Amino acid sequence: MRKCVSFAIFPSAAQRCNIARMTTQAPLPDHNWPVMEPGWVWLCGAGPGDPGLLTLHALNALRQADVVIYDALVQQDILQWAPQADHVYAGKRGGKPSAKQRDISLRLVDLAREGKRVLRLKGGDPFVFGRGGEEAQTLVQHGIQVRIIPGISAGIGGLAYAGIPVTHRDVNQSVTFVTGHDQSGNTPGSLDWASISKGSQVIVIYMGMKHIAQIAAKLMEAGRSIHEPVAVVSTATTDEQRALETTLGSIVEDIDAAGMEPPAIICVGKSVLMRQALDWQAQAAGEAPRNLDPLDRGRPAESA
Ligand code: SAH
Repeated sequence: MRKCVSFAIFPSAAQRCNIARMTTQAPLPDHNWPVMEPGWVWLCGAGPGDPGLLTLHALNALRQADVVIYDALVQQDILQWAPQADHVYAGKRGGKPSAKQRDISLRLVDLAREGKRVLRLKGGDPFVFGRGGEEAQTLVQHGIQVRIIPGISAGIGGLAYAGIPVTHRDVNQSVTFVTGHDQSGNTPGSLDWASISKGSQVIVIYMGMKHIAQIAAKLMEAGRSIHEPVAVVSTATTDEQRALETTLGSIVEDIDAAGMEPPAIICVGKSVLMRQALDWQAQAAGEAPRNLDPLDRGRPAESA
């Protein structure tokens, strides 16, 4: 398979500035928007990076919050939409010194008890590999009222920005989302890789970069081909988005050769081939689709 590393095309800084100004001033569309009450915590997904992927509920929250507690993967542009609020960084990135989860949760409790309108902003969707469930549970255990605002998860939206549909009728009837490490930072021993490998045509791996050699080996031991298509999409949906197309057998050396860094989503399965037709960012930059029928169906896409 052709190996390909590509870069994203996004608006220039000047265009972005105009868009940001326009959005700050524009009222929300007419709707019965929920009011953020003092003492509440809204646990909200910020999407994978591109601020345009925020939900309207998230924007509504940003405009009302007294304090925004945000994670490492939340884009700074988004915080500008809450100029009235205190911005508190509570990032956690693998291997680097970071706030402890329990401390973050208790900080949220304290702020709520002070009567603040608290917006807890997390990358992607707060309930997808983001410990949002634990934070919400701690809040509820302390008698704090919460509202949950879902977000677009990197394993769906990030892949879409790379032109990879997470499901496609000709490829998969199921998709499995897995985390590349467990609570101790090791490859999850509790995961039944053989079952995942056999049971799911498409596997989407979060936090998989550190242990990719072991993960790829486990999938191949369990019967996936060394030729299985794999994509690695890093900093997806941001100006720095990069995508690598490779195979299970070559992934380790190719990640290394391309200098791909986390955060990255790794997608294993034939849906990766669809990028040959659907790399819409490359097409927006003037490139022709590489292959109009990447799955070799020999018929129009929707003839079935
Ligand atoms: N709650 C988040 C996931 C948090 S776990 C969500 O729903 O998306 C952190 C992992 O998510 C990263 O290690 C990476 O695998 C993935 N991730 C988050 N943002 C990403 C991005 N912009 N591009 C690629 N991967 C991303």
